[in-house]
Amino acid sequence: MKSTVLIVAAGRGSRFGGDLPKQYQDLAGRPVLCHCVEALLGVPEVAAVRVVIAAGDLHLYRQATTAINDHRLAEPVTGGATRQESVRLGLEALAASAPDTVLIHDAARPLVDGATVRRVLEALRTAPAALAAIPVVDTLKRARPGAKIVETTLCREGLWRAQTPQGFHFAAILDAHRRAAAASGSTFTDDAEIAEWAGLPVTLVMGAERNFKLTTEADMARAARELQHSSGEVRTGSGFDVHRFAPGDHVWLCGVRIPHTHSLDGHSDADVALHALTDAILGAMGDGDIGQHFPPSDARWKGAASRVFLLDAARRVAARSGTITNVDVTLLCESPRVGPHRDAMRAAIAEILGITMDRVGVKATTTEGLGFTGRREGIAAMATATLCLAR
Ligand code: MG
Repeated sequence: MKSTVLIVAAGRGSRFGGDLPKQYQDLAGRPVLCHCVEALLGVPEVAAVRVVIAAGDLHLYRQATTAINDHRLAEPVTGGATRQESVRLGLEALAASAPDTVLIHDAARPLVDGATVRRVLEALRTAPAALAAIPVVDTLKRARPGAKIVETTLCREGLWRAQTPQGFHFAAILDAHRRAAAASGSTFTDDAEIAEWAGLPVTLVMGAERNFKLTTEADMARAARELQHSSGEVRTGSGFDVHRFAPGDHVWLCGVRIPHTHSLDGHSDADVALHALTDAILGAMGDGDIGQHFPPSDARWKGAASRVFLLDAARRVAARSGTITNVDVTLLCESPRVGPHRDAMRAAIAEILGITMDRVGVKATTTEGLGFTGRREGIAAMATATLCLAR
């Protein structure tokens, strides 16, 4: 069965603050719509995703979807004055490709999950219409509009809260929407209601509490918390390294070549800072240390640029679907002076790790003439790394 998802994102409403319609507002670093599209593209059974947007929102749409590189995301459709009209225009736009089934989903539900989508798709194998919904568990009271006096208590048995996606056999829902548009004076709150009106049996499948609709500012904060909670586990690691001075005329520190009265002695280029940082990242992952992955006994690493070691650590993070949140390096030495090279060092580390420079700290301190660094026998480096790893 070929299934297309139509995401309805044509609303102008921002019942909560901000000038932007809520589907384009930031949620944990990405626009709400981006979360929504990615969640639906994450379901392999979905053959295409198409978004219905408001006239004039094309630039916002492009911004929101710029990071998405998936051929299944088709060009957007311009919606109408009401949600119902927007959905109908979206369906009309799909008529040429005529999918077997269509799932209609609200952009204001960015936390939709694959299991819910699959339950709707599964129901459509035997039913012409199906929607995600949740049984009502709270006791329901009815009050006179405007008054806060209970008139009656409703029986909640058999009551469900409707969510999206709502799925339909394509030809049937297109026909229902066309007839509903022609029947003046009919307004419907969702597409399942149009299906009911058209006489289609509508099947309920279990939705998800997490698939809630963003309505208030508090919903936005709740969604951000949910994403943070599910997006990964925060890890920190620390690293420490020392290299002694030897005759020479330069040192490598944080990937930067600095002229000096001595060089640092080591099997590789002896970049003490990158070694400490590599260990910090490996430590955060519980993945051994630099000596284990690049043994000094191995001739391949003789004279190697230490960026190779750090790149490998970054690749290990990526392989675990992780991201590097920030890193911080402290150099302990009397000389050379680090200040003039600090930004070049930060830039070099940022480039190797593929992160922005604001996530890289480089600092230096002397040890007041005390100890081996004070006696100018060598340089020590400490580093910490914070990662976010997939659960
Ligand atoms: Mg070392």
